[in-house]
Amino acid sequence: MARVFNFSAGPSTLPEKVLEQAAAEMMDYQGSGQSVMEMSHRSKVFDKIIKDAEALMRELYNIPDNYKVLFLQGGASAQFSAIPLNFMNGTGKADYIITGQWAKKAFQEAQKYGDVVAAASSADKTFSYIPKTKAEDFREDADYVYICMNNTIYGTVYKELPPVGDKVLIADVSSCALSEPLDISKFGVVYFGAQKNVAPAGLVVAIIREDLLGKARDITPVMMNYQVQADADSLYNTPPCWTIYICKLVLEWIKNDIGGLAAMKERNEKKAAVLYNFLDSSKMFKGTVVKEDRSLMNVPFVIGDDELEKKFIAEATEAGFVNLKGHRSVGGMRASIYNAMPIEGVEKLVEFMAEFEKANTK
Ligand SMILES: *Cc1c(COP(=O)(O)O)cnc(C)c1O
Repeated sequence: MARVFNFSAGPSTLPEKVLEQAAAEMMDYQGSGQSVMEMSHRSKVFDKIIKDAEALMRELYNIPDNYKVLFLQGGASAQFSAIPLNFMNGTGKADYIITGQWAKKAFQEAQKYGDVVAAASSADKTFSYIPKTKAEDFREDADYVYICMNNTIYGTVYKELPPVGDKVLIADVSSCALSEPLDISKFGVVYFGAQKNVAPAGLVVAIIREDLLGKARDITPVMMNYQVQADADSLYNTPPCWTIYICKLVLEWIKNDIGGLAAMKERNEKKAAVLYNFLDSSKMFKGTVVKEDRSLMNVPFVIGDDELEKKFIAEATEAGFVNLKGHRSVGGMRASIYNAMPIEGVEKLVEFMAEFEKANTK
């Protein structure tokens, strides 16, 4: 078996143990005589899978009882529309912090539905930092404040949540989901597309405080109405059964093999430090983000020489370190080192980078 180290930003690497278990259970899931791909979403067997997935999510994230956990489709991008339709329904105002492309896309979508402003932005420095904000920076009567917690493309993360007073905070945590503990009670809504850190593509998990439900606009498409999904226990229509099953296996891996989210965080910090320490000591490779806002999940870096970057990416690919090309809007390189990337993957990448530096320095 020749597995590469896959640094893709998403869809991304999954724990090998989960892939092996899925393979072993492919033809006959726990004596059902079927694959999870084939079974009815109304069957007892699948009912247990989705309920177990929810219970594990609640346990790992320590989710308070007054929050719903929904398994949805449409990607994180569909939530960009669903969020204003469901939650921008008091004054019809919402304040967004623009920390990158995903926040900007959510902001632009919300503008279709009401009075939406950018309360802060880090566009002035190519989103290489998290703008500092105070509770007074947000409009007194805004229905919610929206952030993108980990900025997948630019490699920044909120180490502390922005103070928003008593306003509802909504966060896209797609690229840092389950990478560390999160105090869910600080949020009105937390949601994530699964294909970065949790499962294959096709699933979004939304964790929503119950009192915010039930106020969707009349024009809200039924599939985007969170109340409808909550009432149906995420089974309003056929859910992405297979992806929910893999999500459950990943949650079991985090709980049983890693030891929960505090242990996951420690592991992720150790792993990221290997790469950041190298970037800080290298004369050739440079990180692009201010130190205090560095993501543990997505690490963009540059050489500053197009030809040499091309050569690096080609040689790295050849050596089994794949998907290191930076996002087309930033250039350079990006190593996404999500939960499932083993520490050896980062150690070996750093060895490879050091050798490349030596071989290409006169
Ligand atoms: C990838 C990503 C998205 C978009 O996800 P889709 O599921 O492709 O719609 C949104 N937000 C963040 C932070 C992401 O990393």
